[in-house]
Amino acid sequence: MAVVSSSVRLSDRARTLKPSATFAVTARVKTLVAEGKDVIGFGAGEPDFDTPEPIKEAAIAALRDGMTGYQPVPGRPEARAAIARKLQRENGIECGPDDIVISVGAKHSLYLALQAMVNPGQEVIVATPGWVSYMAMVGLCGGTTIEVPGATENDFKLTPAQLEAAITPQTRAFIINSPSNPCGTMYTPDELAELGDVLATHPQVAIISDEIYEKLIYADVAHFSLGSLPALRERVITINGLSKAYAMTGWRLGYACAPGDDGVVAKAMARLQGQMTSHATSFAFPAIVDAIERRGDEVERMRRTFGERATLIHARLSAVPGVVCPRPTGAFYVFPDVSAFYGGRTPAGRVIDTSVAFAEALLEEAHVAVVPGEAFGACGGTHVRLSFACGTEQIEEGCRRITQWLATIERPQA
Ligand code: PMP
Ligand code: GLU
Repeated sequence: MAVVSSSVRLSDRARTLKPSATFAVTARVKTLVAEGKDVIGFGAGEPDFDTPEPIKEAAIAALRDGMTGYQPVPGRPEARAAIARKLQRENGIECGPDDIVISVGAKHSLYLALQAMVNPGQEVIVATPGWVSYMAMVGLCGGTTIEVPGATENDFKLTPAQLEAAITPQTRAFIINSPSNPCGTMYTPDELAELGDVLATHPQVAIISDEIYEKLIYADVAHFSLGSLPALRERVITINGLSKAYAMTGWRLGYACAPGDDGVVAKAMARLQGQMTSHATSFAFPAIVDAIERRGDEVERMRRTFGERATLIHARLSAVPGVVCPRPTGAFYVFPDVSAFYGGRTPAGRVIDTSVAFAEALLEEAHVAVVPGEAFGACGGTHVRLSFACGTEQIEEGCRRITQWLATIERPQA
């Protein structure tokens, strides 16, 4: 009998899509730990806390009460109303429940926003270094990412002149994330207002403001939402979620607020969602209301702990000769420049020439996991990202290993 070989062909889109670098590092650490290796993981961008009990109780009660069926596509009305009230109260965004779409994680909210607005061939400006999935998601829409790198000496922040120069007639959207993953820095309200002035003169550009780290701030700087600027209100899609502030990464709950043009974008996002995931998990909706309306104290406790860790990891890394480490002011990441070691050779004979090579050698030789900076855009290639969403003992031990290991590297120019 003739053997017919069959092979499933992948779409170009699936074939060329890179896996999420942050998830890849996290998965590798889990495998190494399961094999009994003593690895310190600074890869995962997720709180090491458990979800506060009352939030869990709200979901458990809903589950027991039989909230187990299909729900409205953009989310249950009371959860959307709670989010709209929060955005008005805390962020100064004029909006109502109909402007809110709740999705399976802020990642999906971002994807829906891009799918709703970007046609193939259009440009999306991303302030880089920027979170790994922005570029991948723009690619999935057939769009072109225009990376605009923030200068290291400006805490990686874009200037109004840089933004102005990047906008073309093909620009469909601009993605900004403050506080920033991976940089761990944030814009001041004045700096955002200046970017807002530029955007006000380009009405074809939608603004996707990813504010998922808004509650994790360690500097004397207030969080500011671009969607609160009247001149931009119609064009800003504010993205947020429960993963980071409430330690709810595994719940997969994110939301978008798109109040412009009679909710045209919000409606389009809901239409897309109705053909993809339908809606977020039914019994999670009461948990959203509990978290947003009643868990401010728990969030503040976690923020203070993250703040202490930010100070510790910054002190330890800044003390390492050759490492340049900006002070983390928001989110839970530090993004040190390690390029002084490029061109060097490790004790095991590896040559370090990129952030990928640096991260690989650090993991293999010192058993410390970090995310290579180039995953966050080409300009990140001189840096690596460390998440400090882990205990102080881990921070101390990880930094001790990094310090010792770097001291053994032969640097040609040192
Ligand atoms: N935006 C940024 C900047 C992030 O770091 C993350 C991390 N997960 C997300 C969005 C997505 O969050 P989630 O899907 O867990 O809500
Ligand atoms: N946002 C987190 C990180 O950057 C979680 C992983 C992901 O969603 O990419 O590590």
